Amino acid sequence: MIYGNYIDGEWRTAGATFENRNPANTAEVVGNFVRGTAGDVDEAAHAAAAALPAWSGMSGPARGNILYKAADILDRNFEQVAADMTREEGKTLPEAKGEVRRSINIFRYFAGEGARMPGMLVPSERDRVHMFALRKPIGVVGLVTPWNFPSAIPAWKLAPALICGNTVVLKPASAAPLSAWRIVEALHQAGAPKGVVNFVAGSGGELGKALVEAAPLKAVSFTGSCEIGNWLHAEASRRHLRIQLEMGGKNPTIVLADADFNCAVENVVNAAFFSTGQKCTATSRAIVEDAIYDRFVDAVAARTSRLKVGDGMQPGVEIGPCVDQGQLDTVLRYIEIGRKESGEPRCGGRRLTEGALANGYFVEPTVFADVTPDHTIAREEIFGPVLAIMRARDFEDAMSIANSIPFGLSSSIQTTSLSRTFEYIYRAEAGLLTVNLPSAGVEYQLPFGGTKDSSFGPKEQGPAALEFYSDYKTVYLKY
Ligand code: NAP
Repeated sequence: MIYGNYIDGEWRTAGATFENRNPANTAEVVGNFVRGTAGDVDEAAHAAAAALPAWSGMSGPARGNILYKAADILDRNFEQVAADMTREEGKTLPEAKGEVRRSINIFRYFAGEGARMPGMLVPSERDRVHMFALRKPIGVVGLVTPWNFPSAIPAWKLAPALICGNTVVLKPASAAPLSAWRIVEALHQAGAPKGVVNFVAGSGGELGKALVEAAPLKAVSFTGSCEIGNWLHAEASRRHLRIQLEMGGKNPTIVLADADFNCAVENVVNAAFFSTGQKCTATSRAIVEDAIYDRFVDAVAARTSRLKVGDGMQPGVEIGPCVDQGQLDTVLRYIEIGRKESGEPRCGGRRLTEGALANGYFVEPTVFADVTPDHTIAREEIFGPVLAIMRARDFEDAMSIANSIPFGLSSSIQTTSLSRTFEYIYRAEAGLLTVNLPSAGVEYQLPFGGTKDSSFGPKEQGPAALEFYSDYKTVYLKY
């Protein structure tokens, strides 16, 4: 099937295409996507500008009804949408179902915001003056999304952008565009007026540049690598576009000697390897207190060796493939760097090519021990199933190792000490913290985003999402 771009309320299926292949079986083409051009992006941005007055003039609850309908459509197509995601991105079917459920919940949550859209009402110092601030949309917004949460990330940008009354141009990741396409299809079927939502797939370099240069654009929300995010930031700033960036991470989990040991092992293995380590909030550094270090390394290696790797469509498979050849090469390269710096991994370390795995980008979940803070695999984002375990003398040493890198997306601690939990909460340099849970696995009702080099601009999700997608208009009224 050819999946077209969606511009000004029309599906555009003409033109050159690119293939979307299944990373678990590269012989399978999941779909062909029309390769959008810079001209398509410009047209989409102008269509969005033309649609803006009517859409922003509609009442919030009326916009919310369209979002509720889109959520219902995704719900009706739930099994198909989840299977599409496993086939294009490689995550297991249960993980894909969890993500589609989250996208549906995100749409319902922000549909409800249409009936709230909180402003401000405060008393004036002056007599008979009524003063308040109401929210207004910012205009045409560009949304650029990565492949690792190919449904939830487009959802958590589209839903708040639309409910605030903005119109959008969405550029999905080329490695996994179908999940985002399904959301746009649902919005189309739900009756979003033409031009309100536009979707252009294709090369990030060409379309990204066209997007930041499109005259009607007022803001860009980007999730992806630091390299692209920082480039976009520079380009967008030249035009004073509002910008929101969610980027890379190198997330730590601190394991203290007083932790519930088995629970800590499960949480670290889950956070490091599920979704093939391709979650932005995945744990890639376990920082373990000396007293339990050796036992912990043995237990994590033993548990990791039992993980079942394979095609995520098959029941019982826990770990799918890397998303594409480039990501596979990156992971294998870092494993070799790890071997040179830290010695043989305690488990894993190879590409898997036996039997049916030969046609996919599979790597064994890999655990390195005795990694020190100066090692490359302790500092650089790998974005794959590779865990570096590091030894800490005590809590203070663990905190200093955890905070020693420029990233600050998520962070976790495993401990039964209330006092250390609070020390950690106040001192950890990350935007998302978990305690006695995996570092990955967030919900949509609270702000999401990092700090330091991982993020820039207002947070996503929860009530905080409205801050990026709306502006205040302040009114002083004498009666
Ligand atoms: P990426 O290579 O930066 O790509 C992200 C998006 O940007 C894709 O749609 C890509 O298009 C597009 N793009 C590429 N070049 C561009 C340009 N010059 N201008 C504008 N857009 C451009 O990242 P990725 O490999 O998809 O995703 C992995 C990264 O995302 C990791 O670093 C991960 O940590 C990060 N991530 C962060 C979060 C978070 O919340 N902090 C969440 C998820 C992922 P193409 O696909 O066509 O290249």
